[in-house]
Amino acid sequence: MRPIEKSRHPRDHQQQILTFPTYQHARGPLLETIGSYCSYCERPLSNPAVEHKMCRQHHPHFELKWNNFLLSCTNCNSTKAHHNHLVLLDCIWPDRDNTYLAFVYTAGGNIEVNSNLPTLIQERAQRTLDMTGIHRKPSLDIAVNPTFPDQRWKKRREAWNEATDARQDLQEDLGTPNEAKMKKHIINQAKATGYWSIWMTVFHDDPDMKKRLIDAFTGTSSTCFDATQQPVPRRRLI
Ligand SMILES: [Zn+2]
Repeated sequence: MRPIEKSRHPRDHQQQILTFPTYQHARGPLLETIGSYCSYCERPLSNPAVEHKMCRQHHPHFELKWNNFLLSCTNCNSTKAHHNHLVLLDCIWPDRDNTYLAFVYTAGGNIEVNSNLPTLIQERAQRTLDMTGIHRKPSLDIAVNPTFPDQRWKKRREAWNEATDARQDLQEDLGTPNEAKMKKHIINQAKATGYWSIWMTVFHDDPDMKKRLIDAFTGTSSTCFDATQQPVPRRRLI
């Protein structure tokens, strides 16, 4: 889960803090601030929906609050809708915590809680997986799951395979005149494919590519990484 920077409230041309007549009015500022990706599963969004961290039905005071907004896809939004009585502190959030540190991504589209974290944080990370369902792998058996609506893990696996191929291509071009061009091409490919965390994981031993990925995806929190692009806690715990 990509950690994002969205602490500054957006302002208009006169530097006045923007207010939102409806929550949908926050879509533009959100796209500009954090880019067009699901804040939870990281897929590219063709039709971005403004997501309420605290749901607006049960927390109407937060319906129009900038700090309560993220962007999400239909799958994450509908899974999360079953968790109405969220306590913010019980989960981890991409605009508050270093969510990249919280999860481990592996081949096959797997996502797991980082077992090196303190137990309390592991529990919050697991709750975040349960809240969004991004770790789910629905059955491909049509008898079990005829509509097969949730393809997040499958898309994540495809992104893993693409990133692995790209890494191999880059290794072949290292030290040649094609190197810079190949790096640019891979970054553009990553932006189109989405799943920033997957690309960061596959290029885990390449600080230059990680820096490019952090810079290329709008709104990624650079303070979540040290000078060698290793993830560091953003707050006291994560
Ligand atoms: Zn999503």
